Amino acid sequence: METKMINLKINGIPVTVPEGTTILQAARQAHIEIPTLCYLKDVSNVGSCRMCVVETTGARGLVAACVYPVAEGMEVRTNTEKCRQSRKMTLELILSKHKKKCLSCERNHNCELQKLSLGYSVDEDRFKGEDYVLPIDTSTPYVVRDNDKCINCMRCVEACNKQSIHAIGPIQRGFYVHIGSAFDRPLAESPCVGCGQCVVACPVGALSERSDIDKVWAAISDPSKKVVFFTAPSVRATLGEAFDLPVGTNVEGKMIAAIRRLGPDAVFNMDVTADLTIMEEASELINRIRTNKIMPMFTSCCPAWIKFVEQSYPEMIPHLSTCKSPQQMFGALLKSYWCEKNGVEPKSRFVVSVIPCTSKKYECSREEMKNDVDVAITTRELARMIKTAGIKFTELPDEEFDNPFAAASGAGTIFGATGGVMEAALRTAAHMLDGDFEVLDFFAVRGSSPVKEATYLVAGHTIRVAAISGLANARKVIEQICNGKNKYDFIEVMACPGGCVNGGGQPTLSDSIRNTVELKEARAKALYASDDRSDLRRSSDSPVMDVIYDDYFGFPNSHKAHEILHTAYWAHKKI
Ligand code: SF4
Ligand code: SF4
Ligand code: SF4
Repeated sequence: METKMINLKINGIPVTVPEGTTILQAARQAHIEIPTLCYLKDVSNVGSCRMCVVETTGARGLVAACVYPVAEGMEVRTNTEKCRQSRKMTLELILSKHKKKCLSCERNHNCELQKLSLGYSVDEDRFKGEDYVLPIDTSTPYVVRDNDKCINCMRCVEACNKQSIHAIGPIQRGFYVHIGSAFDRPLAESPCVGCGQCVVACPVGALSERSDIDKVWAAISDPSKKVVFFTAPSVRATLGEAFDLPVGTNVEGKMIAAIRRLGPDAVFNMDVTADLTIMEEASELINRIRTNKIMPMFTSCCPAWIKFVEQSYPEMIPHLSTCKSPQQMFGALLKSYWCEKNGVEPKSRFVVSVIPCTSKKYECSREEMKNDVDVAITTRELARMIKTAGIKFTELPDEEFDNPFAAASGAGTIFGATGGVMEAALRTAAHMLDGDFEVLDFFAVRGSSPVKEATYLVAGHTIRVAAISGLANARKVIEQICNGKNKYDFIEVMACPGGCVNGGGQPTLSDSIRNTVELKEARAKALYASDDRSDLRRSSDSPVMDVIYDDYFGFPNSHKAHEILHTAYWAHKKI
C-alpha cells in the first residue's frame, strides 16, 4: 500500500513527510532541532519530560513533539516565547532536585541537562525544596547509580526493557519517585546482566561505569609492575569520538600512540586473541558437527550474554562454546605463554584490558577467571586517562602494536560488530572442513539487523547459522529453539544491539548526534573497511597463530589449550 504523505510547515518551512511521523522527526527534515531529554532514538519515546513542547495549529496548548503526529496543513512553531518559557521552567524544576556536582561529574561538558540549562539561561536555584538524598548504588563491579543526579527521564529503564531484562524501574511516587531494582534492592541483587545499555542511554551523570582508572595509574607508577595494555577490536572505531572526530573514524594508530604515552610496558592487540578464539571455537564447532554433539552451539565471547543464559536459560548452558572470551584468553595467554617466554614473574604482571563494555568488568571478576585480567577499562575511561595525561590525541602520529601480539587477521577486527564473530568463525571453520573452500565474505551475516540467518553447504555439511544482537532477540530465538520452531547449528549472540560497537562502555555522544546518526552502522563500517584492507582475512592464516600453536598449545582444542583457553559455566540463582 502506498504511504500517504502529509504536508505541513515548521517555522514557516514547508515539509512533506509520511503519515504517522512525529513533529520531532519532521522538524529534522527542515533542519530544525527541537530540544529533548527523555527521548532517545531506538531506545525511549515516553513523552514525559516536556522539553520538546511546541505550538501548533489544531492544539490548544503546547504539545510534546516527540509523540505528537503531524497532520495535513499543520503549522508548527518550535521556538516561541511560550515554548522557551515552558522549557526553562521544566529545567528549573528538574534542577531543584538535581545534585549539581558538575565539577567532578564525569559527564561535565557532555551532559544534556547542562547544555540545555546553559542554552535556556536557567536560574539553577530558583526552586528550593526539600532535600531528598538517595544512596549511591555501587553493588556491582561494573555500573554505579547516583540517583541524586537522576532526572527520572526513564531512558535507562526503557533501554533495559528493550533488552527484556527489566532489572530497573520507577520506585515510589511523586516527589519520592526514583529509579532502582525491585523492592529497592541493590542492582547486584537484580537480574541485571551488566550490558551497560542503561549507562549509554543516560543523558546526565546518574549512571556511569565503575571506574578502575586509579588502579591503572597506581600500577603504572609502581616500578615492580610490568603493565600491559591490550585493546578490543571495536575501541579503535569509537575512541576518536571522545576527541570530537567524526563517528566511524578508525583511530587505531593514534590509540596505540596515546596508550604508549600513558607509560605501560607494552601495548598489544586483542584482535590476536579474537583470532585465537576463532581457532578454538571453529575447531569445537567442527567437532560438534562431526560427532553430532549438543547443537546448536552458541558463541561465548559476550559476558552479558553468558550471564543471561546462566540466569534465565540454564538448560542451554551445554550449548555454549567453552571458549573463554578474547579478553580472558588474552589475560590467560599473558599469564602463561608470555610470562614463560619473557621470564616475567606472573605476579608482577598487571594486565589492563581496554574494552567497549561494562560487562567485561564483571567477567574479569568471575571466580574461575579472576587472575587472568587485573583491570578492564572502558573506551570512555581510556579517553579520560588520555585527556588527564595532557596527550594531544588528534596530533599524535600513527604507531603500531608491540610484538609478539601485534599482527592479527581482518577476521579478528570484525569481532566488534554484530555478525563479525560468526563471519570470522565461518571463514576458518569452512576452510578447516574443506581446504578448497576459498569464500571469505559472508555478506548474509553482515549489517545491523538484529537477527540474520543463512545456510551454507560445506564439505557435504549443511550449516545453518544465525547472528543475533540484543538480548530480547536472543530470548525470542531461544524460545523458538526450545519449542522446536527453529533449527540452527551455530548461533552468535552479542548482548548489545549492533554488537560491541554499540557497547555500554563506548563514548556517550550528545543527543543531537545519537538522534540523527546511525551509530552502529558507521562504527561497524570502520571495522569492515579495515578487514577489507587487510592482507590476512582468515584467523587460521595468521602467522601469530602458527607461532602460538607451534610454540605452546600444539593444536586447537589440545589438552593444554583446554586448560588455559576454555572455561565452564553454571546456573545462577533465578531472581
Ligand atoms: S546494565 Fe543492562 S541489564 Fe543491567 S540495568 Fe543496565 S540495561 Fe539493564
Ligand atoms: S538514571 Fe539517567 S537515564 Fe535513568 S532515569 Fe535517571 S537520568 Fe534518566
Ligand atoms: S555485545 Fe560486546 S560490548 Fe555488549 S555486553 Fe557483549 S561483549 Fe560487551
